[in-house]
Amino acid sequence: MLECILNWLFPDRCAGCRRLTGDLFCAACRARLRPYPPFAPPAGLDAAWVAFRYEGSLVAAIHQLKYGRRRRVAHVLGDLLAAAAGPLVADALIAVPLHADRLRERGFNQAAELAARLQRPGNPPLIDGLVRVRATHRQARLAAHDRAANVTGAFVWVGRSPPPPRLILIDDVLTTGATLAAGAAALRAAGAQSVTALALARSVIAKTSVQ
Ligand SMILES: [Zn+2]
Repeated sequence: MLECILNWLFPDRCAGCRRLTGDLFCAACRARLRPYPPFAPPAGLDAAWVAFRYEGSLVAAIHQLKYGRRRRVAHVLGDLLAAAAGPLVADALIAVPLHADRLRERGFNQAAELAARLQRPGNPPLIDGLVRVRATHRQARLAAHDRAANVTGAFVWVGRSPPPPRLILIDDVLTTGATLAAGAAALRAAGAQSVTALALARSVIAKTSVQ
């Protein structure tokens, strides 16, 4: 109720097109989202699935979320991811963690915010236990061949018991898949059997392999 009144007084600006639409991601921006085509999983991942092409309004919205620290944008993007993905089959969902320094800086983990929206009846539970132990350079600033080296050994499983066998690892953007593969390596080292990557978006021109 309070949210309705506040939104009437101060309508939300769309994170995609910046218009005062009263919606965090407006109908026009939603209509322009294009599904990401199926692709072979990057090295180190058993499967990979991406909801949308990283382009246009979605790029603007993801930037608002991560660099503009507009946390609520994750709710609408997470719901779009959930709707596009449909029912998820695995034993558990895990969000790609941020390093503690980055988490302090941003105030929240965008992957965890998206993953929280996948917590719905019929989907596997979202669990903790994977941590990022090494601060890494921002992947976006690195060339493909540097990305894998940057994140190797960056993650470790600290759960009290081994992770469940089949996992879905969630991130906002999949580019080369190096970050997700490094997370998957830590999960397998702790006993996981299969790790599927699930991401909101991927650049269409991104290479499918880091080799
Ligand atoms: Zn819009």
